[in-house]
Amino acid sequence: VNPISHALIGWCIAQPLEYRRDRILVTCAAIAPDLDGVSILAGLESYGKYHHTFGHNVFAALCTTVICRIFARSKMTTAVLGFVSFHSHILADMLGSGAAWPIPYFWPVSHKMFAFGPPFQWELDSWQNLAITAFAMIIVFSFAITKKRTIVETLSLRMDAELVRVLRKWAGRGN
Ligand SMILES: [Zn+2]
Repeated sequence: VNPISHALIGWCIAQPLEYRRDRILVTCAAIAPDLDGVSILAGLESYGKYHHTFGHNVFAALCTTVICRIFARSKMTTAVLGFVSFHSHILADMLGSGAAWPIPYFWPVSHKMFAFGPPFQWELDSWQNLAITAFAMIIVFSFAITKKRTIVETLSLRMDAELVRVLRKWAGRGN
């Protein structure tokens, strides 16, 4: 599943949080597993070897949770939502990364692979992934209307305010 879809889902999970910093942490937790995908910089072979290894497991989940707790303002809630957000990634990958990418959830202690089978597994370029991404975008849009923020707040407050203004105008909710 592509990192943008993971981030959208993570940001939706982050919405109960009051502080922007905490929402950014929880959004990052949803992308964190794909740090092992950075191995693609060392070539396709290393990507094949390391993607879905050191990022996609329970120990990485615990590290991510601890990091969320350390840097958050609302420590407990951010840690819990960071943990949930991380696992939204694992679940999304199990559902929507095709049969070739099972999850070694207890790596490196155990190399046992976890995967769903059809109908709870589909390919990367499937309509199901598109539908999930579209659904997450609808939720983001609804937050632009109700809370005056979007996922762009993770990058820039100024750009976020501009996007919120445009979206609210479209929705006939100027200001
Ligand atoms: Zn992944």
